[in-house]
Amino acid sequence: MNNVILIRFNEIHLKGGNKKYFIKLLHNNIKTALKNNICKIESIQNRFIVRDYENEDEIISKLKCVFGIHSISKAVEIKNDIKQICDYISTIKIDTTFKCDVNRADKSFSIKSNEFEADLGEIILKNNSRAKVDIHNPKTTIHIDIRENGYTFIFYDIIYAYSGLPLDEKRNGLLLLSGGIDSPVAGFAMAKRGLRQDVLHFDSFPYTSPQAKEKVITLAKKIRKFIGAKYMYICSMTKLQEEFHVNCKTEYAINLLRRSMIRIANILCEKFKYKTIITGESLGQVASQTIESLTSTNAVAKFPVLRPLISFNKEEIIKIAKDIETYDTSILPYEDCCTVFLPRNPVIKPKIEEAEKEEKKVDLENLIKLIILNMEVFDLDNKS
Ligand code: ATP
Ligand code: MG
Repeated sequence: MNNVILIRFNEIHLKGGNKKYFIKLLHNNIKTALKNNICKIESIQNRFIVRDYENEDEIISKLKCVFGIHSISKAVEIKNDIKQICDYISTIKIDTTFKCDVNRADKSFSIKSNEFEADLGEIILKNNSRAKVDIHNPKTTIHIDIRENGYTFIFYDIIYAYSGLPLDEKRNGLLLLSGGIDSPVAGFAMAKRGLRQDVLHFDSFPYTSPQAKEKVITLAKKIRKFIGAKYMYICSMTKLQEEFHVNCKTEYAINLLRRSMIRIANILCEKFKYKTIITGESLGQVASQTIESLTSTNAVAKFPVLRPLISFNKEEIIKIAKDIETYDTSILPYEDCCTVFLPRNPVIKPKIEEAEKEEKKVDLENLIKLIILNMEVFDLDNKS
């Protein structure tokens, strides 16, 4: 009998011909997540097993952040042998309502699931005078998972992870990460669909403070375990914003800034081979997130701009931000480059032709070239 951690996955069951590919991907991602832990990871049909480990709780909390994992259980592993399973069940102490739940994946196992459930229930009742069967609403469920590899896993609790698809280097994107609540959640949401992301942040030093920059670096580090980020790019928008401020209509400041952000993201996508751009925009949240504003930023995008929070209310976003533990950092009161030179009346329905006219008033191409030239790149692997 061994103590193990049992890992289940769900959606990748459905991947038909690609199932093998997704399982290998998930296996690799589990290995990466646990690379600093003592343990062995084994792949069996439709499950992974972690064995010979130390720090069980730490391993489980890391596994909860691996997309593609449906759920995790602390289990004991016993041979698919009726006597050995019954012997183990007879050691269980229960004084509540309970049920036994048998999953007979090994069809060569000689007793059918419901018969075996009844037999095991009898054993428990015999050994525990206060235990009572309740099939519909038991306090304790004893799961008996009889697998094809010749081993049975017995466990009580099911710890749910986020499901989704495993991160894949072949599906990658560039997350526009501000210091706010939304963009880390947007990164999380896209990572859940298997999109690995690096992050791009724009600051406006000295109008934005070093603390504001540190805050975003902290956010990047916090979401790394979900989005698989390796690099963080930081671009200074100071000169560009000053030029817009002096030369262009003030009500277009945010729209022009947004379009410049996308243009810079385009260049990085081309240079570093990202396939898509991700933002934390949500329809109607602010002036820069109306359909017309989004149309104006989309007009300069050369890559698909994914906005996973487009239909989310702020409360829904905050709930996820708290769950993934970015909220407390996001609400630290430091300014963002979008709040610098903020017009009193930003245009709500910007026109593309108008934005283009304003952009001609500055040397946009060279300003952007300079921004890329002075861009800072952090290797998040080496940033403690
Ligand atoms: P957030 O909470 O993510 O800051 P927000 O509601 O404040 O969002 P905006 O400031 O309009 O919205 O920004 C919309 C999106 O644009 C952000 O979610 C982010 O993806 C991107 N963005 C905004 N500011 C920056 C920045 N300084 N650096 C990188 N991306 C940014
Ligand atoms: Mg913001």
